[in-house]
Amino acid sequence: MSNTSIPGEQYLTRRVLSMQESQTMRISALANKMKAEGKDIVSLSAGEPDFPTPDHVNQAGIEAIRSGFTRYTANSGISELKKAIQEKFRRDNGLEFQENEIIVSNGGKQTLANTFLSLCQEGDEVIVPAPFWVSFPEMVRLAGADPVIVNTTLENDYKMTPAQLEAAITPKTKILVLNSPSNPTGAVYSEAEVRALMKVLEGRNIFVVSDEMYDMIVYGDIRPFSPARIPEMREWVIVSNGVSKTYAMTGWRIGYLAGPKWLIDACDKIQSQTTSNPNAIAQKAAVAALTGDQGIVEERRREFEKRRDYMFAALNSIPGFRTSMPQGAFYIFPSIAGVLGKTFNGMLMKDSADVAEYLLRDHHVATVPGDAFGAPENLRLSYAASITALEKAVNRIRKAFQ
Ligand code: PLP
Repeated sequence: MSNTSIPGEQYLTRRVLSMQESQTMRISALANKMKAEGKDIVSLSAGEPDFPTPDHVNQAGIEAIRSGFTRYTANSGISELKKAIQEKFRRDNGLEFQENEIIVSNGGKQTLANTFLSLCQEGDEVIVPAPFWVSFPEMVRLAGADPVIVNTTLENDYKMTPAQLEAAITPKTKILVLNSPSNPTGAVYSEAEVRALMKVLEGRNIFVVSDEMYDMIVYGDIRPFSPARIPEMREWVIVSNGVSKTYAMTGWRIGYLAGPKWLIDACDKIQSQTTSNPNAIAQKAAVAALTGDQGIVEERRREFEKRRDYMFAALNSIPGFRTSMPQGAFYIFPSIAGVLGKTFNGMLMKDSADVAEYLLRDHHVATVPGDAFGAPENLRLSYAASITALEKAVNRIRKAFQ
């Protein structure tokens, strides 16, 4: 007699079971439900600019449709876009890549997933400094490797030190992930800091995946410095970037990856058997974004900087909150250790998820708990919102912890 059973989760692979579901889902589901009920929620949970996609970029997309540019393209992206990306690297990052050292994918996310799938397998370790962007450890696990989390501190502005890196390296280390400017902390490694970290890796046969998604959103005097600028490391560095954040194009899904040709070819192969080329229309729009007037990027950067200054001062003046000064991206990541273990409005704050839930339920401010970023004593607030909305949120948070 055959043994039949009702199919269910027992059929799922170890690969998918070892991944964690996004821990931010519960809080965003609650925020959406409350909004639908007509509650006045101030949402600081967004991972995207509040500005619209620039009009000339939209027009390029419309023109692509009108002219029938609506078919498959080269799997790794159109040459016109790769040339625009080459020029962007030259202009903004001081980097030279050949066209065959570049691939265009469906967002920065796919470039990173392709990279980890190309380089990682069982037994490999990938060093991921925490706080980290939520997807890094999960992508590494999906590729079969083990993330090795290195905890950084507020005192060091959430940046990994060379000594910490050295201590995390084992014979199994395959990759170091660097994300500067960082989501969620806004930390930016200076040129000297990047050089010091790369010195540790020199001659060690360890790759660097450098996620530079927020490279054009930086404040004050700091300029992001790509580890790919260091000649000794050049063959070991893979740079991921995209148009999502710089040009407010999150929905268009265009990211790009630059690195050694053999790795780009591997990513091309994976992409050819999974998703094929990124959206043709969006590729044309990305050309317009990268080659058009860059004035709007600077304008928006300045606006983000004003909001950063406001949020830094305002959050640090709330008892129990302590934050580093973000130097890039559009997030601020206060430590809320000072309110943990205390009770507000009858609710005990055990961890950041409790704090985020309390802020949302009782004070109508949506934030993202730090757990998801490997930092259970922090909250992520996005300042991709108007100053008026930020002021309203800060007043509500202050009241919540009075
Ligand atoms: N890398 C970082 C650090 C991000 O914050 C994000 C988006 O949130 C991405 C990559 C992915 O960007 P995309 O929307 O282009 O896939």
